[in-house]
Formats: sequence, structure tokens, C-alpha cells
Amino acid sequence: MTDRPSLEEFDAQRAELMQEFSSQFPSWRAEVTQFMNRLQGEGNEASVLEAMRHRLHQLAGAAASLGFAALGEAAREAERLTRECLAQAVDSPERLLAALQTLQHRLDQQIPADDRRFGVLVLSTSSEQADRAEGRICLVDDDSLQARELAAQLEYFGYTTQVYTDLTEAKEAIRLRPPQLILMDLVFPEGDAAGAEAVSAWRGNMSEPLPVLFVSIRTDLVARLLAVRAGGLGFFAKPVDVAVLLDSLDGLIVRRPPAPYRILVVDDDRIQANLNASHLRRAGMEVQVVTQPLEMLDALFEFQPELLLLDMYMPDCTGMELARVVRQMEAFDSLPIVFLSAETDRDKQLAAVGLGGDDFLVKPIKPDHLVSSVVSRAERYRKLRVLMLRDSLSGLFNHSTIKERLAQEIARARRQQSQLAAIMIDIDQFKQVNDVYGHAAGDRVIKNIAHFLLQRLRETDIIGRYGGEEFLVILPDTAAAHAQDLIGALRFAFSQIRQYAGREEFIVTFSAGVAGYPGFNSADTVIEAADRALYQAKEQGRNRVMLAG
Ligand code: GH3
Ligand code: MG
Ligand code: MG
Repeated sequence: MTDRPSLEEFDAQRAELMQEFSSQFPSWRAEVTQFMNRLQGEGNEASVLEAMRHRLHQLAGAAASLGFAALGEAAREAERLTRECLAQAVDSPERLLAALQTLQHRLDQQIPADDRRFGVLVLSTSSEQADRAEGRICLVDDDSLQARELAAQLEYFGYTTQVYTDLTEAKEAIRLRPPQLILMDLVFPEGDAAGAEAVSAWRGNMSEPLPVLFVSIRTDLVARLLAVRAGGLGFFAKPVDVAVLLDSLDGLIVRRPPAPYRILVVDDDRIQANLNASHLRRAGMEVQVVTQPLEMLDALFEFQPELLLLDMYMPDCTGMELARVVRQMEAFDSLPIVFLSAETDRDKQLAAVGLGGDDFLVKPIKPDHLVSSVVSRAERYRKLRVLMLRDSLSGLFNHSTIKERLAQEIARARRQQSQLAAIMIDIDQFKQVNDVYGHAAGDRVIKNIAHFLLQRLRETDIIGRYGGEEFLVILPDTAAAHAQDLIGALRFAFSQIRQYAGREEFIVTFSAGVAGYPGFNSADTVIEAADRALYQAKEQGRNRVMLAG
């Protein structure tokens, strides 16, 4: 055996290095800012680019080897583009600037990988980061009433807003505490283009690029040009259609970091298993370890991994056998499986891959190699699952998926002797919306409600589009009676949101029926009960939430 450091030693060493590396993030960030300023100033002088390429290369290397995968990738991409700029002497470094901006964003986001699954909680340690997590938006508009109205609409969707009616006041506030996004009016008492002029002037003084969307009653080409020239990322005619605006906001404001990949490690050797797990965790993944192969099935159902890392040789059964078992279950028939083994015999490796494995890694494995192999497969699997499991209009789980999830959640609640609530939601008089405002407006309402539910419910809640204008929501660990109150509050909030069809405004409400486990004991009976309660809500006049039983 080689003289490997113990797991504890290894962990301590790495933890120290990671600590040191992350303490340098602020200075890295400042350096990146400097690069960006230089790029915008002197342009892409070869000496500047060369120095920059070198530093980016260092950053990429350090980040990758310490498991800051996303940061490493961002640095590498910036390095690649720098090299491209050097080689071709391109005179517009736009893409490089964007890559540097992404890199800064990554530096901002980096928090110790093991804490990352607490995402927003950890982010809220400093007030600036809390703002980012909240999705803080500044509205600058001299029409106070209209701005407040729009702000209120955005708040219903869970954003935090601030309204300024005076340009000078706004400028000062934004300088002190930059929001994530600015919604800027064009016409002010100062002039017909004062909004755009103000933004252009600010840009010169700010080290950070600031996303701005313009809103205006002016929709002429000149107005749009002004907005583009001031670096506006979007232009919205007043009155602003909140649904369309929200679509843009989603792309610009990252409110929740994407959930970490879930990896299940099955290996009878506890140290090996934990060592691999710690590499993966450091790269930001969520890892569960099973050292008893026979416990794998429970873990598959409970944890719903996005990749299975499987040791080849174990006492009770071999990894190949386990892989075959997994492949025979419909729910997991496309789950990526990566084998780990000291096996160097190429034929046996190929046999394993033939039996349903996706890759074969030979021990001892280089951490980088392990991480990259796992990440690329988990990533592809997740993308595939989105297509398979989601409804394309709303982005929510589709009918069969949400039903399946309900059955799973009930099984889990039964095992853990906990409870859950299921809510059937149906939009009121939706046919009329289509008839009066058109099908496209109806579609937008569906997207709107999906968006609304996603923003307002917990991350652990499960939301599906059950049918045309019907939605099924599962609230784990929630009593049905409590769910009734909770959904009641959402029902009210949703009824305050303005829906738009061209220049017309209207209000849409929904009704809901709540049922829970225990009380009802299977997915079918829970759905039936929630449906009956929904029917009662409709009968009693709609726009209300009824509890089953
Ligand atoms: P109630 O309050 O009783 O639920 O009345 P309702 O009009 O909402 O119910 P009904 O079931 O009579 O009509 C539902 C309508 O929803 C009919 C259908 O055309 C429309 N719908 C279903 N799916 C979609 C969709 O994806 N887009 C649009 N625009 N309309 C849809
Ligand atoms: Mg309806
Ligand atoms: Mg209906």
C-alpha cells in the first residue's frame, strides 16, 4: 500500500488551502475589475492581454484543483477568450468582457462547497449578498404612482423593490447600495431622454456593470436607440406587462443557485467512499454514501441521485450486478452509472460498461478526473430529465411526473411517519380569459401562475401542471389545515396581480382544494379528495380554498 494521508489529514490540509484560496477572492475580484477597465480603456494591447492570460490561467488552475468547479470553468473560459483575442487581435473584446463579468459573478458567489446546499441562507451573511439573494430591484420613475404599482406587482412575485422618483436621489442610493437590476424610465422633467443620459453617466463612474431595463411611454425608434446606446438590456412599453418583464428578470437575476448535483456513492470501503464523497462535495455536489450494497435501493428512492458511483467489487454482490438491478427499474433506467475499481483489465472494464455503466474509473482516481467525469454526466442527465419531466409552457413538472412524485412523497411520509399536503389548483373562469383576451393571453396567465408558485413556495415544495389550467402542488411535512392557510394567502396575493393583454388589464383568480396524508392514504385517493374539495370551492363561488373531509 502507498503511504496515503489519513482522511482527516487530507481533509484538514485541503480545508486550509481552500480557506486561504477563498480569502483571496476579493483581491482576485479587484484584479478582474482592473482587467475589465483596461480592456475598455487601452483596448486589447498585447502586453495587457498576455499578463491577463497568465493570471487567469493561474486562477483557473487553483480553482479547479481545490474543487471550485464553476469558478475554474469561468476562469478557463476567460483565459480561452483572452488567448483568442491575442491570436486574432480582435478589436471588440465584448465576449471577453462578458466572460470576465461571469468570472466576477462566480467569485462573488463562491462560498465553501459544503455549505452550498444551504444556498440562500449562507448568502445572507452580508447585506450585499442578501440583496442578491432577495432579487432587489430599483425602479426609477418620476411617475410615482405607476412606479409603485409596478413595484407592488413585482413584490407579489417575491422580489424586493425600491422606488425613486428623483434622478439625483436615485443615483446616490444606487451608488451606495447597487441593486441587482434597475428599471429606468426614459422621460423625466430634466428631458425626454434624461433616463438614458443618467444611466450613461453612471456607467462611467461605476466599477461594476449594472443591468438596466428601460420602461417608457415613448416607444419610437429614437427612444429605443437611446436605451440601447445607454447599455439597456431591454425595453418595455408602459404599461409594463409584468409577465413579459418577469421572463426577462429571470434571465438577469439569479435568485436561487442551481441545486447541487446529487451523487450516490456505493462502496463497501468506508474510507474510499468518504474520500471520493469529500472530493465531490468540495466541487459543490450533494453526496450520499452507502457502504452496504443492499441498502442501495432505499437510497435510490429516497435521495433520487443524478449519478451513481459504484464500486466494482464488494462482498455481498458485485457492482455489475447492482448496475443490472438499477437498469431493470424503469425510474432509473437512464441514471448514469460510473464504476470505480482497481481493475485495470481492459476487457473487464468493457464488460462493465457493456452491462450498463457509463464510465469506468480506475483507482486510485485523480480528484479532478473524478469530479469532471461525474459533473459532465450528471449535467447531461439533468438536462435530459428536464425535457422528459417538465411541461414546456410552464416549466413545471408534467402530469405523469407530478403524480409519480406524489406517490413517492406519500411513501416517504409513511416511512418517516410525517405528513404532507396536496393541493389541486384550478384557474377560475379561464375559458373566458381565452374568449375575451385570446389564447396567447391565456398562455401568459398560465406562465404567470407557474412563475408565481415557483417564487412563493419553498424550494422543497413540488409543483406540477396537472392539466390545462390545473396545477397540483405537494407540500412535504405540512399539515393539510396549515396548507389551506398558506394557499389561501397565495390565492389572495395572486388575485392582486394584474394580467395584461396588449393595453388591457384584467384580474385572474384561482380556486383550490386541499387534501393530505395521513387522512388519505394513496396518491389516487389524495388527488380525488383534493379534486372534490376544489369542486366545492367552485360551487361556493370560486376564488377560495377548501379543505377535504
Ligand atoms: P372554472 O372556473 O369552472 O374552472 O371555469 P373554467 O372556464 O376555468 O373551466 P373550463 O374547464 O370550462 O375551461 C378551461 C379552459 O382552459 C378551456 C381551455 O381552452 C383552456 N385551456 C386549457 N389549457 C390551456 C392552455 O394551455 N392555454 C390556454 N390559453 N388555454 C387553455
Ligand atoms: Mg378553470
Ligand atoms: Mg378546469
